[in-house]
Amino acid sequence: MSSVNENVRRILGELPPGRQLVVAAKGQPLEQLAAAIEGGARIIGENYVQEAQKAFDVIGNSVQWHCIGHLQKNKVKNAVAIFDMIETVDSIELAREIDRRCKQIGKVMPVLIEVNSGREANKSGAPPEDVAILATEIAKLANVRLMGLMTMGPTVSQPEESRPYFRITRQVFEEIAKLDLPGVTMKYLSMGMTNSYQVAIEEGANIVRIGTGIFGEQRREGANPSL
Ligand SMILES: *Cc1c(COP(=O)(O)O)cnc(C)c1O
Repeated sequence: MSSVNENVRRILGELPPGRQLVVAAKGQPLEQLAAAIEGGARIIGENYVQEAQKAFDVIGNSVQWHCIGHLQKNKVKNAVAIFDMIETVDSIELAREIDRRCKQIGKVMPVLIEVNSGREANKSGAPPEDVAILATEIAKLANVRLMGLMTMGPTVSQPEESRPYFRITRQVFEEIAKLDLPGVTMKYLSMGMTNSYQVAIEEGANIVRIGTGIFGEQRREGANPSL
C-alpha cells in the first residue's frame, strides 16, 4: 500500500492545471493529515466542526479548511472561526446564520451551495430547481460570498453512473453564473470523490474531494459520524 504523502503527490500530479484537491479528512488522526500536507495538500475538508476544531488547533492556518459536511445552525459560531470556505450551504436560514456570525468577527465567508443533484429524500443539499432563488437570497448577505456549487450525488457502483448528476450540477452552475448576481462570483464547482473525480473533472469540476484514495479504506477507530 502506498503512503499517504505519496498518494497526495500522485493525485496532485494527475490533476489538470487549475483544479484543486480537498483532502477529505474523515476523522483521520493528525499524523495522517500531516503526511497529506507533506505530500503537498493545501486544503483540508472536514465533515464535523468538532473534528475540524481539533485538527485546526494543531495545524492552524498553514492550510485552508473547507467545511464539506452538513452544517447545523448551532455549530455555525465555531465553524466560521475555523473554515475558509463552507461548501455545504443548502438553506437561506443557514446562510443567514453564517452571515450573522461572520459579521460578529468581521469576516466574509466564501460559500458554495450544496446541490442535491440526485433529488434524494435523505440527503442534504438544495434541489436543482431551488438553487437560483437560494443564490439570489445569499447574494443579499454582506458577510457571505457565494462562489459556486458543490454536489455529492447518489452512491453508485460505477463512476460513469455519476456523470448525469455532475452534468446537472454543471448546468445549474452555468444558469446561476448567467444571472450575474451582484457580489456573486461563480468560480468553483466542487464535485467528485475517490471513485468519480475523473468523471467530475470531465464535467467541469475544479475542486475534487478525496478521502479513501489518500488514506485507504480504513477509517480511524472511533471516528464518530454523529458528532
Ligand atoms: C467522505 C467525503 C468525500 C471523500 O469521499 P471518498 O470516497 O473517501 O474519496 C468527499 N466529499 C464529502 C462531502 C465526503 O463526506
